[in-house]
Amino acid sequence: MGATLEIRNLHVSINDTPILKGVNLTINQGETHALMGPNGSGKSTLAYALMGHPAYTVDSGEVIFDGVDMLELEADERSRLGLFLAFQYPVAVPGVTVANFLRSAINARRKSENPEDPGITIPDFRRLLKNKMDLLGIDHKFAGRYLNEGFSGGEKKRNEVLQLATLEPKIGILDETDSGLDIDALRIVADGVNKLKGPQLGILVITHYKRMLEYLQPSFVHMIMDGQIVESGGPELADEIEEYGYKPFFAKHGVEATED
Ligand code: ADP
Ligand code: MG
Repeated sequence: MGATLEIRNLHVSINDTPILKGVNLTINQGETHALMGPNGSGKSTLAYALMGHPAYTVDSGEVIFDGVDMLELEADERSRLGLFLAFQYPVAVPGVTVANFLRSAINARRKSENPEDPGITIPDFRRLLKNKMDLLGIDHKFAGRYLNEGFSGGEKKRNEVLQLATLEPKIGILDETDSGLDIDALRIVADGVNKLKGPQLGILVITHYKRMLEYLQPSFVHMIMDGQIVESGGPELADEIEEYGYKPFFAKHGVEATED
């Protein structure tokens, strides 16, 4: 049986201000979900809280991943269990290349499964990385770049998708941060995710952009407003958002409109 990420009645605050007000969401390995919502609705807060960012206080609720209470675990332990959060390593790491980073991450994961594991050999790793870069249409030179150093928005996304492909998590969460995301970057994520979709991978793509859904065609679509998931459905919900925007949903759910 595949892994499940189960978020139950999650309440999260930042500096004592409640942001998430009871989020419920279940993602199974093999499913592709999109979380949509207007600016400031709590999308990134959910992603940061799942990753265990110290500024995001979980006031109540549960997050169960593969049967394990995730809220008790450090960020790196979460990742070794097979949960991937795209912006886990958002900062530039001087002197560490994309390839070095990926190899250490793979080895850390393997060691946590088996302490005797000697790690992936260099030829095996090269082969794996090359296959993944070819699959995603990423130039091989990218592997030699220093991690996040001077990365453009598109390169950051490429790096995230390459991490997702190489680390082979059970469930991956990608937050389309709202700044500087052009159409190219959107496409990199959507095309990458589309290529990686399969029974072994559960995906939650968090996005403000309706266009993302056009590329991604997720089977499950959720809408968050004012810290709660107010609608869940299939592709038809994406079509509705595409056609009418968020406006009718603000009224329907009694939420003060922040944008169209
Ligand atoms: P989204 O990703 O949906 O645009 P966020 O989760 O980033 O929304 O933000 C949700 C709410 O939390 C917003 O009202 C925002 O102003 C507030 N918020 C986000 N980060 C902080 C912070 N570091 N300190 C205080 N308030 C914050
Ligand atoms: Mg955000």
